Amino acid sequence: MGRDTGPVCRQCRREGAKLFLKGARCYTKKCSFEKRPTPPGMHMMRRRKVGDYGLQLREKQKMRRVYRIGETQFRRLFEAAERGTDVTGENLLRLLELRFDNVVYRLGLASSRDQARQLITHGHLSINGQAVNIPSYSLKPGDVISVREGRADIGPFKEAAGSLSGNGIQEWLRVDATKLTGTVVAAPRRDQMPGDFNEQLVVEFYSR
Ligand code: SF4
Repeated sequence: MGRDTGPVCRQCRREGAKLFLKGARCYTKKCSFEKRPTPPGMHMMRRRKVGDYGLQLREKQKMRRVYRIGETQFRRLFEAAERGTDVTGENLLRLLELRFDNVVYRLGLASSRDQARQLITHGHLSINGQAVNIPSYSLKPGDVISVREGRADIGPFKEAAGSLSGNGIQEWLRVDATKLTGTVVAAPRRDQMPGDFNEQLVVEFYSR
């Protein structure tokens, strides 16, 4: 199964939560979830009892949709997380957070992960001075992300230049607003990663 490419607001309604997939719009009154927080489809209006499997499935889907990853790639990441030395769920979140597209989004160089992905695949960004066009590239502490020479005038970067300040940026990242660069200072700890996921449910889903 590939990435979810259908209407993104529908995915928020399906997961019963704001997933913030559309950048600035998500913070305005135009947010579809604010207007209609019910699951899509008429039959979904009825309340259904959700069992353990349903809870695990929904958490896995929510995580996958937030990070904009297809099922196959998500499962591969889970398998990599299982091989890690720390707790599997925490490893999984860390691998997701260290993806190139996620870091570009977290640095504020893109307004959403979808936009970050597009900027990367179009070759506008580099890692440690080398052009990299792979959104799933896994970053390491010390890696420096930059906007490539001659690309700073591209719309999203112009917008970012006006709003980048480093304020509110995650502790494991550092941003240089004047140079439009960002550095991965350290791998994120659990308390520096999103608290609205129950990663244990995702582990249970794949361990059935
Ligand atoms: Fe979700 Fe609202 Fe953003 Fe649409 S606008 S992606 S419903 S948070």
